[in-house]
Amino acid sequence: MPRKNKSEKPSGIDIFQVLIQTEKEAKQRKREELLASFGVKQYFAEGTITINKTTCKGVECKLCIKACPTNALFWKAGEVGITKELCVYCGACVLNCIVDDCITVSRKRETGETERFSKPKDFTALQHAIDAEKRFKRVLEVFPTVKEYLKRQKKRKRRKESANH
Ligand code: SF4
Ligand code: SF4
Repeated sequence: MPRKNKSEKPSGIDIFQVLIQTEKEAKQRKREELLASFGVKQYFAEGTITINKTTCKGVECKLCIKACPTNALFWKAGEVGITKELCVYCGACVLNCIVDDCITVSRKRETGETERFSKPKDFTALQHAIDAEKRFKRVLEVFPTVKEYLKRQKKRKRRKESANH
């Protein structure tokens, strides 16, 4: 009978990996339920948010708490707390924060693109770039390139010809 080597790892299911995955899925479900109760959509696949407690103006300010659309931020024990499950990484808190680099949000889009910002001006610039890209796509739909225009004209001509036969 072959003897088992003690250092040999058991093959098959990695129980730790399964546990991690199950926990991840449970968290995701909880998050979806909570956000659905607020009627808020998730636009980002994943993200993180941090608040620098040493630079935060706290009790004198609380503007981020007022700006948060999901109530992910709250006031507790003399500081701003975060319910991470409720954060949709929208950036409203960064936009309203009176201290640069106090709140940092990083987020990943479904496309894999990542964005990180911690100042209102960075958030505004990012939003401007996103809007400009959307506008450009819309313009292309209305005003096609010469190549696209000629292709459309050809199609139109063919349709006309087949309708006349
Ligand atoms: S990023 Fe948006 S959802 Fe998250 S804490 Fe800030 S305001 Fe709230
Ligand atoms: S807006 Fe910024 S400075 Fe004001 S409480 Fe929130 S994190 Fe602190």
